[in-house]
Amino acid sequence: MGVEEAPSGFLLTTIEDLAGYLRKASLWPVTFGLACCAIEMMAAGASRFDLSRFGMEVFRASPRQADLMIVAGRVSQKMAPVVRQVYDQMSEPKWVLSMGVCASSGGMFNNYAIVQGVDHVVPVDIYLPGCPPRPEMLINAILGLHDHIQSSPLGVNRLEAARAAEAAALEATPTFEMKGLLR
Ligand code: SF4
Repeated sequence: MGVEEAPSGFLLTTIEDLAGYLRKASLWPVTFGLACCAIEMMAAGASRFDLSRFGMEVFRASPRQADLMIVAGRVSQKMAPVVRQVYDQMSEPKWVLSMGVCASSGGMFNNYAIVQGVDHVVPVDIYLPGCPPRPEMLINAILGLHDHIQSSPLGVNRLEAARAAEAAALEATPTFEMKGLLR
C-alpha cells in the first residue's frame, strides 16, 4: 500500500493509497450473468472457492449497491443496452471485468447477433481469457484488478481516466473487422 513507518511509531501513507486499499478490499459485484461463464462465476462465490475471502462478501441485487460488474458470458445486441443501463446505475467509482473470450471479443460467435467485445458498450478495466475461465482464474483476475484499484487516482482523476478508456474503446477498430482481415 506504500506505507512508511516513522521513528515515532506513526504510519505514513497518502490518502490516495489508503482509499485504494479500502476500495480494493471491499468490492461488491453486481448480480449479473449472461451465459455459461456465469456458472463459473457462481462457483467462485460458493464455499469451495469462497470469494468472500477477498472482501466480496455479497453479490448485490441492485446495481446502486455494487461497484464491480463481472461480464460473464456473451453479450447479444439485444442485451447490450441493458448492460449499459446496469453499468450507468452502478455507484462510482466502479470497475468492469470482462470474463471469458465471448465477453472480451465475441469469441467463436463471429456473427451479427453478438457484440464483438463488451468494451464497445462499457469501459473494461481487466480482461480474463478462457472458455470458460475457471473460478481460480476469475479470482486471479480479481486480484489483478485489486492491484489496479490500489494504484488508481482519486476523484476527478479517476473519472477522467474512465472517460478516456471509454472513448478509446468506442473508437477502437471493431473486432469483427479484424476477424475479417484474418480470413
Ligand atoms: S467464453 Fe465459453 S463459457 Fe464463457 S460464455 Fe463464451 S462459450 Fe460460454
